[in-house]
Amino acid sequence: MALHIYDTLSRKKQLFKPIDKNVKMFVCGPTVYDSTHIGHAKTYISSDVMARWIRYHGYDLTMLINITDVDDKIIKRAADENTKPIDIARKYEAQFKHCMVRIGITNVDRYERAHDHIKEIKNQVIRLLENGSAYITETGIYYDINMFKDYGKLSGQNPEELSRHRIEPDRTKRSPHDFSIWKRTPKGSDPSWAFDADIRIGEGITAERLMGEGSEQVAKASDGLISISMYGRPGWHIEDTAIAEKYLGVQYDIHGGGLDLIFPHHECEIAQMESVSGKRPMVRYWVHTGLLTVDGKKMSKSLKNFTTVDSLLKLYTGETLRMTFINAHYRSPIDFSMKTMDQSKAQLDRLYGSLETLRSAKELDMDDMEKEISAALKEFEESMDDDFNTPGAIKAIFEIAASINRRAPLGISRSSKERAERAIMDIAGVLGILTGEGRDLKLTEAQKALIEERNMARKSGDYKTSDRIRDQLASQGIAIDDTKDGQKARKI
Ligand SMILES: [Zn+2]
Repeated sequence: MALHIYDTLSRKKQLFKPIDKNVKMFVCGPTVYDSTHIGHAKTYISSDVMARWIRYHGYDLTMLINITDVDDKIIKRAADENTKPIDIARKYEAQFKHCMVRIGITNVDRYERAHDHIKEIKNQVIRLLENGSAYITETGIYYDINMFKDYGKLSGQNPEELSRHRIEPDRTKRSPHDFSIWKRTPKGSDPSWAFDADIRIGEGITAERLMGEGSEQVAKASDGLISISMYGRPGWHIEDTAIAEKYLGVQYDIHGGGLDLIFPHHECEIAQMESVSGKRPMVRYWVHTGLLTVDGKKMSKSLKNFTTVDSLLKLYTGETLRMTFINAHYRSPIDFSMKTMDQSKAQLDRLYGSLETLRSAKELDMDDMEKEISAALKEFEESMDDDFNTPGAIKAIFEIAASINRRAPLGISRSSKERAERAIMDIAGVLGILTGEGRDLKLTEAQKALIEERNMARKSGDYKTSDRIRDQLASQGIAIDDTKDGQKARKI
């Protein structure tokens, strides 16, 4: 048994062989200019399950999600709302992280913002200029895709196909697919940073190569140096590679994101990073999550089917949303609807029901549930090893549940009970479900007796005893609210 991952670059399932025992994984994070929507949730839930499965295999794993907090969309939103870009970015970043916790994504090792890595970004821009992969114009600094013969390899497009894509218009670019790595802005525009650098010319890196249209406004060539001085902000793609290089190195194991990021974003990341480092491949496995539609249509604000995680979590638990996404393979497209959420909720109810049935089934001296549990665990592990096939894992967990439901009326042995519960919780732990979220509090007989005792104490005015019992219950994770209908227990 060994993990195989479908790699977008080679278009094959590949045996998972990390560079070393500490697996390094980068997932493209959100541009924080608007509410976290279910498309984000799909990508990060899929990535989270991958991370959990790799850890289950015994690897250490560092998972990094970057926060794109310097971007034209943020600047535009701030202008629309008459506020500062940084305020928009921080507001939606906080909301994003809050949503991540609510959908069970609690073990991201690092969230890193572009804002905090301007030094590293400039450093990559400088190295791209130094090796002749980039050039300066009056509107900023551009990556020259003609210097990278592999451009298009990830998306599998030849130059002719590439030319059909919409491109960033800028009349100073040498070719249409060149992309901005540093955008020049007027001094004082928000956000902007000074970019000052001296690039040595010679050895094939000529002034003609580096100095593009109108570049004399921001750069001067003299004494074998090109001195650049301008204000501006980073381009999108270089934010990611600069952050990845700092924490994961110039080559690492897994890079993930939505399918829509393959072109141009990931194509550009490869070009930049491999040009900077001279090493390839930049990553061993490119994993892309399938697209999401809502009620059969692409999600958009104009179609009124734009579903935020916040709005959905008013109606359902986070694990219901997880269940909805892991019911399909991460690479498959998903058509989301409230009906799929209701089906997921029913599935979770059935699993919780089977756990209850298991716990309350009368104990037998002997039974042979062992075989069924082992077969289900094997199916679970083989499915997950097959490119994180979560539908197979769900099938396995339901096989254990079915076996419990079938046997419970006759009784189940103590060892089978323990083993079945552990198997279910192991699978659930990888999928991030059955966390007990939103479930009614189950009180033990002793706890029920304590609550009754407190009730009596309060009635007789013995508040000392009543407070003592409240503290005792609190230490067991139970809060007591005194309402007009009497005492109500809830989880803390
Ligand atoms: Zn990215």
